[in-house]
Amino acid sequence: MTDTPLHLEPGLYVTATPIGNLGDITYRAVETLKAADLIICEDTRHTAKLCAAYAIKTPLKPYHEHNAARVRPGIIKKLQDGAAMCLVSDAGTPLISDPGYKLVREARDAGVAVTPLPGASAAIAALSAAGAPSVHFLFAGFAPARTVARDKAFAAVAEVAATLVFYETGPRLCACLEAMAAAFGNRRAVVARELTKLYEDFREGHLSELATSYKDAPPKGEIVVLVFPPETKPVTAETLDRFLKDALETMSVKDAAAQAATVLGAARNSAYARALQLKGNA
Ligand code: SAM
Repeated sequence: MTDTPLHLEPGLYVTATPIGNLGDITYRAVETLKAADLIICEDTRHTAKLCAAYAIKTPLKPYHEHNAARVRPGIIKKLQDGAAMCLVSDAGTPLISDPGYKLVREARDAGVAVTPLPGASAAIAALSAAGAPSVHFLFAGFAPARTVARDKAFAAVAEVAATLVFYETGPRLCACLEAMAAAFGNRRAVVARELTKLYEDFREGHLSELATSYKDAPPKGEIVVLVFPPETKPVTAETLDRFLKDALETMSVKDAAAQAATVLGAARNSAYARALQLKGNA
């Protein structure tokens, strides 16, 4: 960090803040928060603690779901007039299951420069240390609270060949893990809790085991659930042929191949080519 105050170009700076450990903030974020004309935050009392820790004296303006529509036009006007503002949330990266999307959208539509200041996010922190496959992942945020909507949301991602990342709360965790086991099959999963804090904890197991382990003692604190991708078993030529022959009795070549891909996990193109051959032979 330098002693010279940063010269900040006008615009909106989307600034990540810690998810627990106060040390997890970047030099650039602190300097930018100090140099900005205004910090737009969810809860001024919460952000005031962060500011006190880093001697940041910039005024705070609350921006949350109850006042966003009312205060947004005024914020955009000030940005267009040349202000430099930081957008922060209570924890982690703004817009990631947090407010800010409409502000960023409208700022861009109004020609305002929008700059990300990257840093902590619970989803990425969990994924980086859980040991779950990480090349492909799907961030699903909070599952809906109502059972029907939740099960529908789970069904929509059940076939995705990627680690699924969810945010969850302690009281809902057990029911959520049980519903996941029903929707995804009993896959491996990791419950990552209280990341970067004193009681940080990673618990790995199959979904039903994890549900049982939390049944009598719902965990406290903040939680990320990572569900491993569906297993892809190699399909033998005999299995594929048997499946396709059955399917072709009632289906088109295209539908039979699609079914083989969905049910057996066979590659769609080779299933289609084989189904065509079998149809020709028949
Ligand atoms: N914007 C934040 C981010 O970038 O991660 C997420 C905000 S969202 C309102 C809050 C949820 O994120 C929590 O309910 C929890 O699921 C997850 N979360 C936040 N901090 C966490 C932590 N330290 N450990 C585990 N999960 C956390």
